[in-house]
Amino acid sequence: MFCQECGNKLILKFCENEGLVPYCETCGTFRFPPFKTAVSMCVVNRALDKILLAKHTNGETLLLAGYVKKGESAEKTIAREIREETGLNVIKTKYVASRYHEPRNVLMLNFIVSVSDGETRLNPEEITEAAWYSFDEALGAVTSDSTAAYFLNADVTELKKGRF
Ligand SMILES: [Zn+2]
Repeated sequence: MFCQECGNKLILKFCENEGLVPYCETCGTFRFPPFKTAVSMCVVNRALDKILLAKHTNGETLLLAGYVKKGESAEKTIAREIREETGLNVIKTKYVASRYHEPRNVLMLNFIVSVSDGETRLNPEEITEAAWYSFDEALGAVTSDSTAAYFLNADVTELKKGRF
C-alpha cells in the first residue's frame, strides 16, 4: 500500500478506536483505505406495482446502479443516473439497505426509487434492455445469492408492507 498523496510506502500504525490503520510517515497522516460508493436503485412505477430491471452489457439482469461522483449526494446521483439511463424523472426515493461489494471495492447504498410514467429511453452504452416486472417476476429474474437479490428482497418486503 502506498500513500495516495506522496506515493511513499505506508506502514501500519495504531489509531485510537480504529486499530491498525495504514499510515504515511512522510505526510504524518493516517491513510484510510479508499473505496468507491455507488447507488443501487429498485426503480418502481408510479402505481408501485412494477419494478424496472436492466439487462447489462455482461448479460446479467440487475437493478439499476451507478457510481456516486465526488461532491454528489446519493439522491443527486439517483436523479442523474435515472435520467441518463432511462430518460425518466424521479418522484421519490427511500433508503433501504447497504452492502460492501468486495470485487469492485464499492459500498452499495440501496434505495427504492419511484419514477414518473413515460416511455423509457435507454442509454445503449450502459443498458442493452430494460423491462418492467411484477414483484415476484423480478425476484425470479435476478441471480439468487447476488447483491441484487439481497437488495431486491429487502425492497420488495418494504413495498409489500406499504412502507414507501
Ligand atoms: Zn504521504
